[in-house]
Amino acid sequence: ISGNRSNVTSLFANDIYFALAKKDGVFGFNVYMGGKNTEVAQSADIFLKEGEVFDFFKALVEAFYLHGSRFSRSKTRIFHMIEEIGMDGLKAHIKSEYKREFESEGELILEKSNFSEFHKLKDGTFGFCYQTDFSRLSTNEIKSIADFVTKDNAEIRFGIDQNIYILSLKEPSTTLKSPAISDTIVACAGNLCPYAVWSIKDETSYLPLDKINEHRIQVGFSGCAKGCGRHRHTDIGLIGLKTNNFGDTDGGARIFLGALHSEGTSVGRQLFSMVPFVHLHKVVSLVIELFELSGHRDFEEYAKDILWNYSEDFLSLWVLANLETNRSVMLPKLDTMKSFEFEVSLLKSEFAELDFWQHVDESFFNAISYLSKKLWTIEGEDPHYKPKIQRTNFR
Ligand code: SF4
Repeated sequence: ISGNRSNVTSLFANDIYFALAKKDGVFGFNVYMGGKNTEVAQSADIFLKEGEVFDFFKALVEAFYLHGSRFSRSKTRIFHMIEEIGMDGLKAHIKSEYKREFESEGELILEKSNFSEFHKLKDGTFGFCYQTDFSRLSTNEIKSIADFVTKDNAEIRFGIDQNIYILSLKEPSTTLKSPAISDTIVACAGNLCPYAVWSIKDETSYLPLDKINEHRIQVGFSGCAKGCGRHRHTDIGLIGLKTNNFGDTDGGARIFLGALHSEGTSVGRQLFSMVPFVHLHKVVSLVIELFELSGHRDFEEYAKDILWNYSEDFLSLWVLANLETNRSVMLPKLDTMKSFEFEVSLLKSEFAELDFWQHVDESFFNAISYLSKKLWTIEGEDPHYKPKIQRTNFR
């Protein structure tokens, strides 16, 4: 539930999202349902006044308890219930518990906004965004934050975006110093969680943090496909996995790109199923460089305007071809998604001399596999994987 007009992180990833809205001059909430890691929540076309949310939520829980699936744990989600009986079917179940008519949705009050280091607040005071070390806090650190706000009579808010916000500052200054450049990045618990393969918070060191921060690019980094880092609801999303695709079993990341997350339009699409960690900085830096060349100021706008008019495989091969040639060739702006033949001709116009063409048949799939192995396989003497494969590199 959000009473904030700023969408600082995508709440459309939730099973249910009560989003600030207005109807007939009264503030309340529009209801969105069915979000999850790989899906955005859809409008239920319902407006609730503030005092109605609790009863509605109780009715939803009851309806889900009575009619939701218990067959498989992974399917115990509102999304699958909607998939099975439709949004109208779900609303009918909720209504029989709620025992009132629903009002149709109001005007959604949602703006994309960024919180700068110091932000002037409505009451004339300032807020300060303390960027945590990817949400790790030492006791000394929390003590110095507490001492500072006590002395300055300020307030502390722990953000769901892993930042700490200090509010009610009289001046835009503080003696506190953020330990990391992390305010647009959410990194999951990592090796504190049994599902993680690596320490996700440490693996953020493979990212071009300064560029990400400069362009306010939203990054979600999860340690597994469960997606606590909301990697498919951000501009650039990552899952830390392990792979032996390129030699020794070692760390790597799956990359997703271009979620239209601010208004819950779409989740991001996959760019690479696996990039070894040692190459991650270069790949993400190139992705950001191509964005810079486009002249767009906002990555989500760039995704909507440019990236979404290309197929996923084309984008993968375009990035690989740029890496292979050490170039940064901007993606031309298209009006709509074009045919495979068009994408082939565009690639040929820039990269005709490369040797991946022998692997392009009716799709780019084999060429992507060929070129990524060529670029990322560990070098050494072994003819396949070099040097000789040790079983696993532990982190
Ligand atoms: S994304 Fe996976 S590894 Fe990370 S906290 Fe969630 S369940 Fe654990």
